[in-house]
Amino acid sequence: MGTTEFDIINRYFTDRTKPRGDVALGIGDDCALLQVSPNQLLATTIDTLVEGVHFLADTSPYDLGYKSLAVSLSDLAAMGALPTWVTLAITLPHADEMWLQNFSDGFFSLVNEFSLQLVGGNTTRGPLSVTTQLHGFLPLNRALRRDTARIGDAIFVSGNLGEAGLALQMLLGNAKIATSDQTHLLQRLNRPTPRVAEGLALLNIANAAIDISDGLAADLNHILERSHVGATIDVEDLNLSPFLLRHITQTAAWNLALSAGDDYELCFTVAPERVAEIQRLSANFSCGFKMIGKIEKESGLRIKHRDGSDFKLDSPGYEHCWVN
Ligand code: ADP
Ligand code: MG
Repeated sequence: MGTTEFDIINRYFTDRTKPRGDVALGIGDDCALLQVSPNQLLATTIDTLVEGVHFLADTSPYDLGYKSLAVSLSDLAAMGALPTWVTLAITLPHADEMWLQNFSDGFFSLVNEFSLQLVGGNTTRGPLSVTTQLHGFLPLNRALRRDTARIGDAIFVSGNLGEAGLALQMLLGNAKIATSDQTHLLQRLNRPTPRVAEGLALLNIANAAIDISDGLAADLNHILERSHVGATIDVEDLNLSPFLLRHITQTAAWNLALSAGDDYELCFTVAPERVAEIQRLSANFSCGFKMIGKIEKESGLRIKHRDGSDFKLDSPGYEHCWVN
């Protein structure tokens, strides 16, 4: 297997400096947490979308503008932070007025929905890519981190998984989807709903969280590794969308739900005594929260059927991989 993005981050960019006292959390989570005032933390994240890697060349500029901010909002949501300020760096092959109007309309639809402000950025010429940096606030000593899951915690997921993955398969010509279902699936791929309100509501209840950008199995593994724990999940507890089940087999749907990227749902862990609270809270959100498994001492992720037999995952998740 080639060098992954995580190999590069670990080898060249992690632990290269003496930690500063004002960095509450550095590299390794959905956001960094910086102490800029005595009782608040600044949460910050940055994401780049590159044509042909993160979005197809024929993605509409409105959707691209929307999604480039949605993915960063999802990282703030995963920390339980309140988003505030955004900066935007765009690299464009040429200045097309119609394109820029649509792109900026998509971008500002989310800026306004979440009462953010665009406070700066950078504009350059070159192959199309979009980078958003997003900041937000957290109270001191409270964040939904990846490294704080505890043995015995219940594992929950918001919404349902795999619809964006099926939309991508449809666009790549690998899945035939009835016309009546195409709009919904494309919406899930191109206009993901960042779970910001859900993250804020979970801040005082959940022990750990991550947003699912590279597939549930891969992203839950980040919680497990950073928390030095393991987990068992039951595929039969996964919330499978009827949009998946209408077009692909249940096994294919489980595979998409576990390993397709671009869901931008939240995966979080909760102490057993607070599970009822989560179930009550779930009713307040249209996406809902579904319990899918349990944090355990034994390291690694075990994916099972209800009868206890192993579920064989086709691929572990979307891996950003550079082959030498
Ligand atoms: P996410 O999917 O939540 O955006 P990633 O998996 O991309 O997070 O990144 C994992 C961690 O590595 C994050 O904390 C991110 O900020 C950090 N990271 C990624 N690339 C770099 C880099 N070039 N230099 C420093 N930190 C990085
Ligand atoms: Mg993330």
